[in-house]
Amino acid sequence: MKDIIFLQPVFKEMIWGGSRLRTDYGYDIPGDHVGEAWVVSAHKSGDCTIKNGAYASRHLSWLWDNHRELFGNLKGDRFPLLVKIIDAKDDLSIQVHPDDAYAKEHENGSLGKTECWYILDCEPDSTIVVGHNASDQKELRRMIDEKKWLDLIKIRPIKKGDFFQIEPGTVHAIRKGTLILETQQNSDVTYRLYDYDRLQNGKPRELHIQKSIDVIRCPHKDPELSQKITKGNGYICRNLISCEFYQVDKWDINGSVSISQDFPFLIVDVLEGEGTADGIPLKKGDHFILPFQYGPCKVEGTLSLITSHV
Ligand code: ZN
Repeated sequence: MKDIIFLQPVFKEMIWGGSRLRTDYGYDIPGDHVGEAWVVSAHKSGDCTIKNGAYASRHLSWLWDNHRELFGNLKGDRFPLLVKIIDAKDDLSIQVHPDDAYAKEHENGSLGKTECWYILDCEPDSTIVVGHNASDQKELRRMIDEKKWLDLIKIRPIKKGDFFQIEPGTVHAIRKGTLILETQQNSDVTYRLYDYDRLQNGKPRELHIQKSIDVIRCPHKDPELSQKITKGNGYICRNLISCEFYQVDKWDINGSVSISQDFPFLIVDVLEGEGTADGIPLKKGDHFILPFQYGPCKVEGTLSLITSHV
């Protein structure tokens, strides 16, 4: 019988961050402008600590390097996924990520970034930026040169429970009043296209206009999302996305369900509610990994979960 691996988040202060990671999740955050909790991460910029069991106080990257059998002996020099909770009190910059090929060549062998967003909560009439309106690279360059940001970006209304897949080359921005769970490739490569002319410590943050133009896909096309739903006695499971980098599912449990773990590893994020996993208490804001060959995990209670795996 293998242990469930609970993780301690790493917090990131951001000019656009707020305090909802404390007020809504009870995390012990270091200030009132905390934008991100890296809740499942082995990235060098924010490596989660293990909270329990034989490997308590080790980092997730250490576990990946030294006990690859817990991850089904997957190949690769880094743990493949990164999960964050993002509290946008203010607008994030408008940005785009490269794909693996571009990042490998231009960012010292880094991975590109495909990411996806589950809207945990948002203020009424909130919006988000996904995509752009330029028909080709020439028009894109012209709109950027002329600073026609509002004509360029696609602004969409959002509500709690919405889901977006952000492929490399997609112009995107989280906007104020939004709380998001982001599941992504383990990468930190972001090209900032526009930052609303804001200042940080008296200076504008660096923009990456040419790299952005290099990687933005024209015209924008929304990816196809899964509609697959599985229902049982006491639960509903909605498949949010299955792509080459990850599969993400949303679970709403009211009673009991056996979640199968047939993958190299399974990440579980507790979004809401309370309950147990194989008898271990769970609450909102818990994040854990079921290791390789853990077998089925019996989850009981009234809970909403997101699970992810490669
Ligand atoms: Zn992004």
